[in-house]
Amino acid sequence: MSSGNRRLRVLVDMDGVIADFEGGFLKKYKQKYPNEPFISLEDRRGFWVSTQYGEMRSDLCEKAISIWESKNFFMELEPLPGGVEALKEMANMENTDVFICTSPIKHYCHCPYEKYAWVEKHLGPEFLEQIILTRDKTIVTGDILIDDKPDILGVEPNPSWEHVLFTACHNKHQELNPKQRRLLSWADDWRSVLASKRT
Ligand SMILES: [Mg+2]
Repeated sequence: MSSGNRRLRVLVDMDGVIADFEGGFLKKYKQKYPNEPFISLEDRRGFWVSTQYGEMRSDLCEKAISIWESKNFFMELEPLPGGVEALKEMANMENTDVFICTSPIKHYCHCPYEKYAWVEKHLGPEFLEQIILTRDKTIVTGDILIDDKPDILGVEPNPSWEHVLFTACHNKHQELNPKQRRLLSWADDWRSVLASKRT
């Protein structure tokens, strides 16, 4: 999809990439269930928090889910270090379009609203034009998708974007296929990743 003078389209996931879902979850889980066992961020494995909690004890799966289904969960997530700054810088780069591409949870009464409110609060109202809410990212076109979910699947078998895996507590031990690239954090060289798609 690259050529000299066309615009680069960057898709950036929200939870685990610019918003600290894992940290926010653990904090609120401990507050709500102070006497239940928890999984430290060090010990997180696998994308789905609820799956790992359910493996620890089956009723903890639903307790985990109750945390992100609660009002203000998504709104109150802290920004991950450097993410907001990186997105603003990206948006100001020449020939670059940035979109936040995020999947709302199925329990929809708070999450979609709060995701918009979070973006307005941390990135500014102009970024509200750049939000894509979808449960299927494979049908969105772009050059790069920066996302912490290792497997991004949907109806389109050959998405236009290159998935760059954003490192998170749950995926850092995971081995990638040889072609796949990682961004270790926003302190990593995301500018070079973008540049590599322009040539
Ligand atoms: Mg994510």
